Amino acid sequence: MIRWSSALNGFVELFYPRLCVGCGRKLFQDEHFLCVECLSSLPLAQVHESEDNFVEQHLYGRPYIESATTLMVYGKETVPQKIIHEIKYHGAKELAQSMGRMLGRQMKGGRFSSVDMIVPVPLHPKRLKWRGYNQSEWIAKGLSEELGVPVRSDLVERVVETSTQTNKNAEERWSNVKGIFALRQEVSTEGLKDHHLLIVDDVITTGSTLMACAAAFSHVDNVKISAASLAAVN
Ligand SMILES: [Zn+2]
Repeated sequence: MIRWSSALNGFVELFYPRLCVGCGRKLFQDEHFLCVECLSSLPLAQVHESEDNFVEQHLYGRPYIESATTLMVYGKETVPQKIIHEIKYHGAKELAQSMGRMLGRQMKGGRFSSVDMIVPVPLHPKRLKWRGYNQSEWIAKGLSEELGVPVRSDLVERVVETSTQTNKNAEERWSNVKGIFALRQEVSTEGLKDHHLLIVDDVITTGSTLMACAAAFSHVDNVKISAASLAAVN
C-alpha cells in the first residue's frame, strides 16, 4: 500500500510538481511550501521580546495594546509578500497554519505566556463566503497548537464591509475601519473579564484594522489585548 501510494505521489509530482512559494523552484520531498534557501533567508523580525518594537509603534494611541509582535518583516516583492498572497488568494490554508506554528514556537515562554485566548481578525460574512475560509483563523490554528490556548472565532464579528485600504493614509484608514467590528450579541463581557486575548491578523500595515478589532472589547473589564501577525511593515 505504502509503496503504491508513494509511486502514485511520484507520478502526480511528475505532472504537478510542488513549487516553492518564494522562488518557484521544484520542492524536494522533505520541503514543504518553501525551499531550504527561502526558508533560511526569511526576513524574520525577531522582536517578540522587545518592548516598543516596530509593531507596537503601529498600534499606539487608540485601544491599549499590551504587547505586539510579528513573524516577518513585510515588503514589496519579498518572500513574505508571496506567502501572504498564497494564503489570501490561492487557498494555501496549510501554509497559513504552518507559518502560525513557526510564529508560535518563537513566541512560547516569553511576554505572551499569559495569553489565554487567540482571536483571529474576522472577515465580513460576504468575504468569508467568497474566499471560503478566514486566513487569520488558519494562522491562529497553528499558533494555538504551539501555545496551547484555544482559538476563539466566536467572540467578535465584522459588521461592516470596508473598501480597500491600500490608497489611504493612516488617519483615513482609521476612520474607514472604526466601528467595523463588534462583539457578538451572545458573548457576555463578564465571561471575558480578566482575560488576555491575542488578536491575530495576516499582515499589519498601519495597524488600523487590528486596532478596530481590539476596540470591540473596550467594554470588557480588565481585559488585556496583545497582537500578532505573520508579517508587518517596518
Ligand atoms: Zn525557494
